[in-house]
Amino acid sequence: MGLVLHVDGERWRAHLRATAEARDGLVPVVKGNGYGFGLARLARKSAWLGTDTVAVGTPFEVDDVATRFTGDILVLTPWRAFDADAVDLAHASRVIHTISGRDELDGLLAVNPNPRIVLERMTSMKRHGFTARGLRVAVDEVRAHPAIRLEGASFHLPLAPRAGNLAEAEALMTDVVAAGLGNGQVWVSHLGVSDVSALSTRYPDVRLRQRIGTELWLGDRDALTVRAHVLDRHPVERGEVFGYRGRTASREGTILVVSGGTSHGIGLEAPTGDASVRARASALARGGLDAAGLARSPFTIDGKPRYFAEPPHMQASMLFLPSGVAVPEIGEVVDVRVRHTATTFDRVEIS
Ligand SMILES: *Cc1c(COP(=O)(O)O)cnc(C)c1O
Repeated sequence: MGLVLHVDGERWRAHLRATAEARDGLVPVVKGNGYGFGLARLARKSAWLGTDTVAVGTPFEVDDVATRFTGDILVLTPWRAFDADAVDLAHASRVIHTISGRDELDGLLAVNPNPRIVLERMTSMKRHGFTARGLRVAVDEVRAHPAIRLEGASFHLPLAPRAGNLAEAEALMTDVVAAGLGNGQVWVSHLGVSDVSALSTRYPDVRLRQRIGTELWLGDRDALTVRAHVLDRHPVERGEVFGYRGRTASREGTILVVSGGTSHGIGLEAPTGDASVRARASALARGGLDAAGLARSPFTIDGKPRYFAEPPHMQASMLFLPSGVAVPEIGEVVDVRVRHTATTFDRVEIS
């Protein structure tokens, strides 16, 4: 009973292997909710894939991953003194920290005299990183500290596919070369396969490390199905009272109680998967509501997405099925559309 992610194991593993083959120097990204699979499972799968390094999002994720993956662990969020105690020093020799400003370097050296680091170059994302000049200065400073292991430069590009990413990566590579890192590793994100091959041809001495999460773990959606259980069903007449808020049914139908609520990440707004401006505009115009003021749910029943009878509860949701819809039995499963990076499943079943 619950919200379950079903994985076609053979298909999923084939996709993981194919991605690792197509993406030389792959660094699987294992962060957040583990893309719905959980951090521990992705750490083990990365070991199975044979990668030497994984990337975690924050220092708080290092310890969970370090006990399940024996290679190196890159921390994507730049090092900050206020989180210096988040990483168990037992793992320090396997951790590669991201440095995005020169003050961080002094702070890191104060707690770890021989750290491993990558220097982040700022991109059009404007999230973290050095300017071109800042990168040159930082490289000089780092080289003056033989105890620091410099593992290369890093940049985080906006989401692909985006035509501008190759041009931006090439411009940033010029800065990396000018800083004296033209024969090391460069850690990148969100470059297409052809972008990576163009860059590699142009910079044969650079080892590109491709940080990939979504395309790796969630890249074959047909391998993944999300299902919820029907927990209960109640016929209602028009005008009958139901729910936490004591609202009344605007027509005859069935209240269906299904597993999956706010604690799983089930929100009022169903993910449409359709990001076109027109789709968004029309969703806005509708307010995601039907004439009776109901919001569309991510649960599909009898072939159609159905409306919430009221906002989702903590672990279950109440849906309204108008009369005429085939009402599933208690114990039957229904399909659910979710954002995998924002969903906590009760169980992940891999065949
Ligand atoms: C999350 C993240 C990635 C991976 O992003 P996906 O879109 O899931 O592949 C790569 N680099 C950085 C810095 C990130 O924060």
